[in-house]
Amino acid sequence: MTLRILYGGTFDPIHNGHLAVALHARDALRAEVSLLPAGDPPHKDATLADAGDRARMCELTVVGIDGMDVDERELRRDAPSWTIDTLRELRAEIGDRAPLALLVGADSFLGLPTWKDWRELPRFAHFVIAERPGFDLDGAMPTELADAFAARFTRSPSALHAAPAGLAWRLRQPVSPESATELRRRIASGEPWHDWVPPAVAGFIDHRHLYGATAASPPGHL
Ligand code: ATP
Repeated sequence: MTLRILYGGTFDPIHNGHLAVALHARDALRAEVSLLPAGDPPHKDATLADAGDRARMCELTVVGIDGMDVDERELRRDAPSWTIDTLRELRAEIGDRAPLALLVGADSFLGLPTWKDWRELPRFAHFVIAERPGFDLDGAMPTELADAFAARFTRSPSALHAAPAGLAWRLRQPVSPESATELRRRIASGEPWHDWVPPAVAGFIDHRHLYGATAASPPGHL
């Protein structure tokens, strides 16, 4: 059975760091990666893009890429999207035996104890943890997180295919400096930013004037 990887995020906007991590995970684990854009929070900051635009940028990113797609289930929910609920819903669809993993950056993994029912999550999925500049998994893991995952780490990619859930594996990809917060800051302040996102996403941001972008995209770019 193919390992399916869910890569959740606000993707506000999706950037080359996200894409690099997703492609490395796909190739290193011979897996299929689904981008999982989060729904809008109830009180959204008006400077951010709405769920429809964030999902569209994810779709533009995966066009023509094998083994990647976009799963929009969290956008269709009215209630806040908790990862545990998404995993329960997905398990009901794919059954208990299909191997499933959550892909998270090191910063997200270190913040896991703030997630709803976080101790339950490994019952439903493996964790694939990507390196991220500035976040040291070896030095800075909170004790409760280290304790909960101590027996879960494996060095074997094939172990993630052999079991449906419960393991943790570190993706040691070349690190990417991009962050959505810094990207939005650059767009709003008119600093160079187009190289940080896939070309079709840059065109979309310009065309829709997202995040304060002022440039008009060339006709036919979308
Ligand atoms: P922000 O800058 O606002 O924190 P972000 O760039 O982290 O945003 P998210 O949509 O929150 O974007 O990220 C989705 C997931 O991708 C998270 O698990 C995050 O840790 C991971 N991620 C984002 N950028 C990188 C990167 N450059 N390298 C590794 N992981 C990343």
